[in-house]
Parts: sequence; C-alpha cells; structure tokens
Amino acid sequence: MPDKIHLLPETLINQIAAGEVVQRPASVVKELLENALDAGAKNIMLEVRDGGKTYIRVSDDGCGMSPTDARMSFERHATSKIRSADDLYAIHTMGFRGEALASIAAVAQVEMKTRRPHDELGTHIIIHGGKLITQQPTACPPGTTIEVKQLYYNTPARRKFLKSNTTELTHILREFKRIAIPHPEVRFDLIVDDKELFVLPATRLKQRIVALFDKKLDEQLIPVREEVDDIAIHGWITLPEAARKKRPESMFFVNNRFVRSPYLHHAVRQAYGELLSEELHPMYFLLLHIPPARVDVNVHPTKQEVKFDDEHLIYRYVASAVRHALGQYSLSPLIDFHPPPDISQLHTQKPPAPSSATPTTAPSTFQGNPSASRRDDWEQVYEIMRAEVPTNDQPPNPTPSPVLVKTEQFHNRYIFASVKDGVLIVHQQHAFARIYYEELKRQLDGGPMSSQQLVFPHPIDLPPDKILLLEKRIPQLRRLGFAIEPQGSSSYVLQGIPSLLSEWNADPTSWITLLLEEFPDAKSQHGGDALLDQWARSLAVQMASYKRIPLNADERQWLIDRLFECEMPSYDPRGRKCFVTWSLDSLDKMF
Ligand code: ADP
Ligand code: MG
Repeated sequence: MPDKIHLLPETLINQIAAGEVVQRPASVVKELLENALDAGAKNIMLEVRDGGKTYIRVSDDGCGMSPTDARMSFERHATSKIRSADDLYAIHTMGFRGEALASIAAVAQVEMKTRRPHDELGTHIIIHGGKLITQQPTACPPGTTIEVKQLYYNTPARRKFLKSNTTELTHILREFKRIAIPHPEVRFDLIVDDKELFVLPATRLKQRIVALFDKKLDEQLIPVREEVDDIAIHGWITLPEAARKKRPESMFFVNNRFVRSPYLHHAVRQAYGELLSEELHPMYFLLLHIPPARVDVNVHPTKQEVKFDDEHLIYRYVASAVRHALGQYSLSPLIDFHPPPDISQLHTQKPPAPSSATPTTAPSTFQGNPSASRRDDWEQVYEIMRAEVPTNDQPPNPTPSPVLVKTEQFHNRYIFASVKDGVLIVHQQHAFARIYYEELKRQLDGGPMSSQQLVFPHPIDLPPDKILLLEKRIPQLRRLGFAIEPQGSSSYVLQGIPSLLSEWNADPTSWITLLLEEFPDAKSQHGGDALLDQWARSLAVQMASYKRIPLNADERQWLIDRLFECEMPSYDPRGRKCFVTWSLDSLDKMF
C-alpha cells in the first residue's frame, strides 16, 4: 500500500483558515477596518455593495506599506504587530495574528493600493483566490485602499451560506458600529450601494453614540467614569426611564475592542437592580481599559471573547461604576463633586461565579449597604447646603438635629430646598418610598423581620383561591414579619405584623391582600428572594402613599437626610424620580 498522507497546498490551507476568519462579509469589514485603525488612520471610508457580497472597499489615510510589505501582508502569519510570544501579553493593536489579509485574499478577488506618506509612488497589487495577478508601482494617495470583490467566488459551497443582502448588511452595520464607537476621534464614512449612510466626523464618544443610534439618546445618557489603579472604565449608560422592552444594542469594549460578555452584561444589569423591572433593558456603551497583560484576547479567533486575570474583580468594578453613575447623576449639574470611586469594598464582596450563560438571578450578596464613600458624597452635598443657611448672630444651635437646609413644603407634596446655585425639589412620597424600601431591604437582609404582636388577632378574610395562594406564600410572609397562624382547616389568623408597619393605621390584613393581589403568579423559580424584593417595593410604595401630609421643618430635614443616606437616592422603588434639581442658570433661562 502506498503512503496516504500528503501536505495540503498553500492555497487550500488558506481557504480552510479563511473559514474561521472570514465567516461572512461583515468579518472582512471588521478586519479591514481594524487594519486601518492599526495603521493610525484618522479618516476611514467604508463602501459596500450587495451586503458586501460583491464589493467591499476600505480606504484609510494611515501609514501605508512599502512595496515589499504590501506583498508580504498577504502571506499567512505575516504581521508587523508582534514578534515574540512576550508581545502577546502586551498587545495594543487590534490585529496581531497576521491571518486576515491572507484569508480574505484566499476566497475573493482583492486589489490593494498603498503608499507610505514619504514615498513618491505607491504599490498596486491584485490577488485572486490567493494567487498574485499583478504587482506594480502606481500613483495613489498616502494610505491604503483595499477592495474585496466577489467574496467566495472560488468556494461556491460557502457562497451558498451567505444570507440575503439585507441580513449581511445588518451584520456589516453592527461591525461598523462596534468599531466606530470606541474610536470617536477617527472620522468614518459609510457608503452602502452608492448612498452615503453615515458621515461621522471626528468627535467625542457621546456624540458618536448619538449619531449612530438615536438623537433622543442625547438627553437620556449619563456618564460613567471611574479609575482605580491601572483599571479605568468610561462610557455612557441610559437613564432608567429610557430602558426598553426590546433588548437594545449595548456594547462593552475592552481596550477599545468589542467583546461579548454575558457576565459583564449581567454586572451592568445588576447595577440597575431595583430601578428597572425585569423585562426592561438599559442601553450602555462602556469602555474598559486594563493593562494588556491582565487580559487575554487570544482565546477566540475573531477575538470577541476575552479572559481577565480576575473576573470577579472586573465584575464588581463594572457594577460599582454603573451604580455610582446612577446614584449621583441627577445631582451633578448642580453639585459638582468628584468623589473617590466606590470600590473600597470590592475586595470584600463576592459576586457569583462567572459562567458563559447569562445568570438568571441577581447576586443578592452584592446589593450591600450604603457604602462609606457614598456617605462622603452626601456629606459634601451638605457642606454646600449648609453654606445656604442664612447666617445670623446667634451662637451655633446645640440641639441634636440642627436644621441644615432652608426648606419649604408645597401642597403637602413637594419640598423645596435651597442649594448652591439652585434649588432641590424633593417629591415627598417618592422619597418616603425610597427610604422605606431601603429600610425594609436592610431588615430583610438581616434575616426575618421583627414582628409586632397584635392585641387582637385578625382573621384573614380571603376568597378560597386567595387562601390557596396565601398557603403557598406563608414562608415568605413570615420572613417579612407577618405572623400567620392556621385556625381550623382552611382559615388563618394574623397575630403580628412587621414592626415597621405598626405605626400605620391601616387594616393589618390589607397589607397581605395587597401583596397577594399584586403578584398573584410570581414565578417561584426566581427564588423567594425576588418575590420578597417585589413585596418590599410594593409595601414601601404603599406606606409612602399615606405620606401626603404636612411636614414641619424637622421632619423635612429628616426626610432629606434619610433620602440622601440611601444607596440609590435618585429613584423610588418603582423607578420614579425622588428629586430634581434646578440650576439658577436654567431658572434664569425660563425668564
Ligand atoms: P494583522 O493585522 O493581524 O497583523 P493582517 O493580515 O490583517 O494581520 O495584516 C497583515 C499586515 O499588513 C499588518 O500587520 C500590517 O503590517 C499590514 N497592513 C494591513 N492593512 C494595512 C493598512 N490598512 N495600512 C497599513 N498596513 C496594513
Ligand atoms: Mg489585521
């Protein structure tokens, strides 16, 4: 028998490799745009036709290539970006495998013109299916233009897998955005089937996002910015009220490279926590910068997955940065403080183990208590508020709760407080709801809530279907502090209620009816904790509904104090604003 094993020809090897790198026209677009960025381009133009199937062109004004490099760039494993294994741990470029051009040229008809700025002539190369057709000097502008025509013309089997032009274009647009967003300082132009679809002049991140997505975002984005040691995160997230039912396009970048990470997505979602009900999704664009040695981008051929040296730390870092941004955004126009990042507790708290699938339950251990640094933030606010108190000649008031802020109540609903450069307007009921909710949560986190014995046990009067529901919920109701005891075969009495509720004059069983009615079919697979959390919100809002009442100066002060001690003072447990601020500037504009 003759020997059977033989080496594959180079072109076939490249075609096989192309399967990995060039999955569809959008992959070509991604590779070419990344090369243009790596070449230091400031202006990049992308043109596609027929969903990129027949024509893709990327022109840049980057560094260009010498005639030899131009030819070399199409060789497999030919790269100018790394030299040794050590370089793998210090990658600052988008590419480094030296596979893209070789793979693309193996499955298409490619034409390149390139010139270094200081060279008089450039180089013109044509390669079809990996075979060099011509290479000659040419006059061309500095930079590089690559045209990729008839993708998969020589591999009809793959060509069949291409989807409709519209679908392929959708993929191209997605790649285009993923590259244009983290590089707002670069101008991008996109021409689709001879029409100019995007003209994106060099700008800043927020404007780039708005230009690519939706003008409305301009008013809905709040900034995220944290920096600790050698890790930094910045970007924009949407206000809770801008969240959508349909999961919007959100993006995470690590060192300016788009990454797919259900784990980090979960960190962001978790940071919004109670501000959003489960079916709503925020939009976010977050850029994480971390020393290349601490992140491995080499785990996936298209480099969309990354591995961090300490996944848990990054999770907490991201969640904390987002929470911090949400917690203080409404103040920032008026009260301009830059508190230290809220990660002092990062090393002591444990998030869930990372997993490739999106976890379904939020890590409850991460919700924590108001942090020390948040406290500091509000102390700074007080400093500013204090400055607003009219001075008089009286000696400092020695009473334990001095009035720090000049406040006024309107219509039993709003409290106005004079602050530096403007006014703070607190929505009384929402503020109460926020305070009650955090108090309930705090108590719940510490185990079953304390219960206050009722003088006379109340029979729980419910229709039979509700009794069945009640029976299922008894363990959770008891954790909340409702002492429910059976009486006879199918009736129950209430012997105690949560201590927190004892000062309310409402019929004690009405709380239970409320809870059972509001979430009749809460899914048990979300765990009792999710239900308890919903109940806590519901109770807090209900308790606060009794609070449209006159408040004296001390009570107003109490409310403001307690609100700003909350972990999330900006919103009530239903995501409604607790306060707004009006700057003098904006007031002046009204007149
Ligand atoms: P990689 O980007 O991984 O190095 P590529 O196959 O994408 O591999 O490119 C090979 C080489 O060709 C690059 O390392 C770079 O030196 C050169 N090159 C590719 N595109 C450009 C460009 N637009 N401008 C300048 N040089 C380029
Ligand atoms: Mg490349």
